[in-house]
Amino acid sequence: MKLDSLLDRTIRCACGQDHHVPVKGIFFSEDALRELPDFLGTYVREPRALLVSDIRTQEVAGRETEETLRNAEWSVEVITLPDPEGGSPVCDDQTYHGVLEQISSPPGVFIAIGSGVINDLVKWVSFTVDRPYAVVATAASMNGFTSANVAPLIQGVKSLVRARAPIGVFAKPSVIAKAPYRLTAAGLGDALAKSVSVVDWELNHVLLGEPFCSFCAGIIDQSERTYLKHPESILARSPDGIQAIFDALNYSGLAMTMIGSSAPASGGEHLFSHTLDMMSLLDRVPHDLHGRQVGIGTLFASALYDRLLKVDRPKFREMPNRIDHRFWGKLAEFVQAQHETKLENIPRIRDRLSAGDTWDQIRRHVLVKAKPPTLIADCLHRAGAARFLKDIGCSRERAFQAVSHLHEIRSRFTVVDLAWMVGILPDAAQEIIDEWLLGQN
Ligand SMILES: [Zn+2]
Ligand SMILES: [Zn+2]
Repeated sequence: MKLDSLLDRTIRCACGQDHHVPVKGIFFSEDALRELPDFLGTYVREPRALLVSDIRTQEVAGRETEETLRNAEWSVEVITLPDPEGGSPVCDDQTYHGVLEQISSPPGVFIAIGSGVINDLVKWVSFTVDRPYAVVATAASMNGFTSANVAPLIQGVKSLVRARAPIGVFAKPSVIAKAPYRLTAAGLGDALAKSVSVVDWELNHVLLGEPFCSFCAGIIDQSERTYLKHPESILARSPDGIQAIFDALNYSGLAMTMIGSSAPASGGEHLFSHTLDMMSLLDRVPHDLHGRQVGIGTLFASALYDRLLKVDRPKFREMPNRIDHRFWGKLAEFVQAQHETKLENIPRIRDRLSAGDTWDQIRRHVLVKAKPPTLIADCLHRAGAARFLKDIGCSRERAFQAVSHLHEIRSRFTVVDLAWMVGILPDAAQEIIDEWLLGQN
């Protein structure tokens, strides 16, 4: 399957749903930017573009994009976000309002020049003023290029805003290959999440009847083969390795767009990263990049699956019915609402799991699909990605705190909740951290 075969169409799927893909083109070549004016000419009514960049991405790709469009007689405006003191721009409500205030009249099209933060901000702003956007990617660091989701901080809380996917994604392989390697390695972590997140998704299907689609779940298998078998190719920035990671991130974003939720690419493993981000907000200890934390969260979730597979006759325990208010401080109210919604589903899940040979069936047909922790650890290690807690600057105690509370922050059922119900958590939390996440110094 080629990426192109999925774009700009509605797919009548065997799962019974129609999957709509609004993304019209993905251009990954040294000539990609040259395609931009014609492409935009086809899909945009007014030849007026507003580019949004930061000071680094403006250098790397902004100027060239600007020039290319001006040469094709487009009118171009540029907003280059300055670095806040001691850091780089973030995607939060304040920055979002700052960009909105600078727009005198909405352009024909917005162009995000960047990856994580810039792409999210422009997706959000363009959706608000109801104009299309395209992205010129400068790093393969996350899977949000082709998705409709934005994950901003709103009043300090990590939130999820449903916006609109871009009309086009443009990237030059040489720019992606030259991006700081920690960004590319973060992209690998975000892509790897799929090794366990699709299993969480299928669990929700089996236990709660959530719609599931094996076509969308399998959509990134093709590029997954390259980076799981040859992680060194990413470290070496070989054309195959860079292409595989860029494709994987785009497929993973498309899977979310097609299903209309983050379920295909985000499960219990992402909660580890979200929780570390929220802890940082509370105690102002810095956190690492999303994808680098997600890679380690994936290893943790995969270790949980590994343990669940070995449980023959589970005795299902009660889930803790309260959140830790002292731990969550000013975020407690938000966390409690998420947690209460999840608790409503637990009796239903327990009944389902306890019926007949359901546990055995689920073990044999669903849990077994999670990739084993040895494979995840090996891939992270060989790709030179964050593999141990020390790589993301997280202590053993901080990881223990995160692991003990991460089930509280989302209403969705994940492998982490199953591990609590079966009694693997909290009992084995420390053991799993020591076995998988704690490297020798
Ligand atoms: Zn489907
Ligand atoms: Zn992610």
